[in-house]
Amino acid sequence: MDRYFTKEHHELRELVARFAREEIAPVAREHDESGDFPWRTVGQMAELGLFGVPVPAELGGLGRDYLSYILVIEELAKVDASHAITVSAHTTLGMSPILSFGTGEQKSRFVPPLARGEILGGFGLTEAGAGSDASGTRTRAQRVEGGYRLSGAKVFITNAGVGEIFIVTAVTDPASGTHGITSFIVCKPTVDVAKAESQGFGHRAELPFSEGVRVGEKEDKMGWRASDTRELILDDVFVPAEQRLGNEGQGFANFMRTLDAGRIGIAALSLGLAEGALEAAGRHASTRQQFGRPVWEFQPVQFRLADLATEVEAGRHLTYHAAWLRDQGRPFSREAAMAKLYCSELAMRATLGAIQVMGAAGYTSEHPVERMMRDAKICEIGEGTNEIQRLVIARHLAAQLARS
Ligand SMILES: Cc1cc2nc3c(=O)[nH]c(=O)nc-3n(C[C@H](O)[C@H](O)[C@H](O)COP(=O)(O)OP(=O)(O)OC[C@H]3O[C@@H](n4cnc5c(N)ncnc54)[C@H](O)[C@@H]3O)c2cc1C
Repeated sequence: MDRYFTKEHHELRELVARFAREEIAPVAREHDESGDFPWRTVGQMAELGLFGVPVPAELGGLGRDYLSYILVIEELAKVDASHAITVSAHTTLGMSPILSFGTGEQKSRFVPPLARGEILGGFGLTEAGAGSDASGTRTRAQRVEGGYRLSGAKVFITNAGVGEIFIVTAVTDPASGTHGITSFIVCKPTVDVAKAESQGFGHRAELPFSEGVRVGEKEDKMGWRASDTRELILDDVFVPAEQRLGNEGQGFANFMRTLDAGRIGIAALSLGLAEGALEAAGRHASTRQQFGRPVWEFQPVQFRLADLATEVEAGRHLTYHAAWLRDQGRPFSREAAMAKLYCSELAMRATLGAIQVMGAAGYTSEHPVERMMRDAKICEIGEGTNEIQRLVIARHLAAQLARS
């Protein structure tokens, strides 16, 4: 793996691994059970700069490459996927579209507070009738003097309640299909201003909050339970023209590019889950005694762990390679889809396998592997289901065939 990593990468990995072990591991189970957003440890992640890893230092970030960001997500997910997705949705979905498609003014206004983790961000694409088929977007943006009026509702939006800055898509020209979809930057206060103020981060009163942005109740989910997922409702919201992101009609193409990069993050999150589960199972198997010896000594247990370790190694190559391509400015859409597809399915195999190796102990909340299994499932669904990843990969294969 050293072909990908420098000393700085290793140091960052070690820093995040230690933080996750010492600060997140002791509270992960409690937040999974209560579903409460982990404000305290999220604040600590902000202090470490984890909300702005691949953002230039002059815009408030750590000024690192995408591989560094991938390592951060992987290390967080080894311990707790809810913390990892909070950073991931904020970074690749909420903030990176402003960095990639924003004007100079939009970048200097919105990116620094996000990159410093002073507030959280997210991305509103999915709607009740537009999941895999995002071209089915119904949210409308009507041009009015000085800007637009947005009406519609986005569902299953990560950080919707706790966050303050969101990129949302809306139809500006219904006659133009996907070329009639446009992106906007929309601000609303966090649902928990008192909590945010007591923690010293999470709310900035000077943001241009728009009237009419509301959120639904927090979703009661199977996994990622400490991550905040809600409906984001746009009720005749005025958004000034200077908060349109990119040109009219560019929203669809831009979010496709945003999702490509986001998928490498989901691959890293899945990889972290697989590695965390494998480590827990290995440790348990070497101490648990049956038939007078550690269960580790039974060949079926060894073979299961050896197979999973091999798959984890393959997943690391796919994920790091996709991130490396992105850092080199080369095309990475195919590789990102492959990494997300492979690693999310691996996360399911690894967490289920870990439970099997640990027997009844693995089936209880005393150990993290049952939580990891619940957290792994959504990785096969979010940021494009795995069926959609297969379609993306098949499209690349077809194009390759046509060229040959
Ligand atoms: C915890 C969580 C967090 C999320 N965070 C966000 C967020 O921050 N922002 C956001 O915008 N969205 C978010 N989402 C939404 C997520 O991206 C969607 O759930 C996902 O894109 C799939 O859409 P869907 O759930 O509507 O499934 P559907 O599109 O209804 O799909 C149902 C089934 O049909 C299959 N299917 C659909 N079309 C095809 C096809 N053409 N070929 C083959 N199979 C197909 C799918 O693969 C799936 O198995 C989140 C979801 C969850 C659960």
